[in-house]
Amino acid sequence: MSFDSNHSENIKMELVFSLRRAGVTEPSVVATMERVPRELFVPEVFRSRSYEDITLPIGHHQTLSQPAIVGLMTEALELNDRKKVLEVGTGSGYQTSILALICRRVYTIERHASLLQEAEKRFDKLRIRNVTAKVGDGTLGWEAQAPFERIIVTAAAADIPPILADQLSIGGIMIVPIGLGDNFQTILKVIKKENGFKTKELRDVRFVPLIPEEVTGT
Ligand code: SAM
Repeated sequence: MSFDSNHSENIKMELVFSLRRAGVTEPSVVATMERVPRELFVPEVFRSRSYEDITLPIGHHQTLSQPAIVGLMTEALELNDRKKVLEVGTGSGYQTSILALICRRVYTIERHASLLQEAEKRFDKLRIRNVTAKVGDGTLGWEAQAPFERIIVTAAAADIPPILADQLSIGGIMIVPIGLGDNFQTILKVIKKENGFKTKELRDVRFVPLIPEEVTGT
């Protein structure tokens, strides 16, 4: 699949350098991030800054994460085209699109109905057909579709969300930023074993909080 986009090779190189600086080297992740036109996910006023390694506002006090963090979290998921992934926090749909181009199927949950609506329009525009999306509280996971081989949470949780941990298959990987308050959070890689969980701290970040038990019509 190839996408029409206006971004120049130079601008794309900025993205590739950001990924390299963050230590993201997995070819499928780098190639996919080069293909996805980030400007499509960015409000018009910030479009000229689409390829800078910065977070950008997407409305409702939510943000599109910086490319280096998207790359790092995607790489840490150890994906391939056989994987079924759950994403909590669709936001603009940028991370979802990258997952969808690498994996077999992506289930994604967003608590803001209007953000999800806009994200779904972008999936259509990019002819991405392997995403199933719903408005809801992602901390509850998606029981009817569980278990998931991979789970990515794109908002910061106080702790590993227990229902998501239940819905992860044995051998599965969850990537989740942990920690609340004004300080940095830590991206955690959680691997589910037969007899418990193995966790590894990946890097400090700043994420918007995961807000449980509340869905908004806006
Ligand atoms: N990955 C997104 C992207 O590429 O644009 C950015 C995600 S943004 C940092 C975090 C998202 O998580 C927000 O859109 C927010 O509304 C959503 N969110 C927060 N708590 C949630 C919950 N309990 N269930 C579902 N979505 C939630």
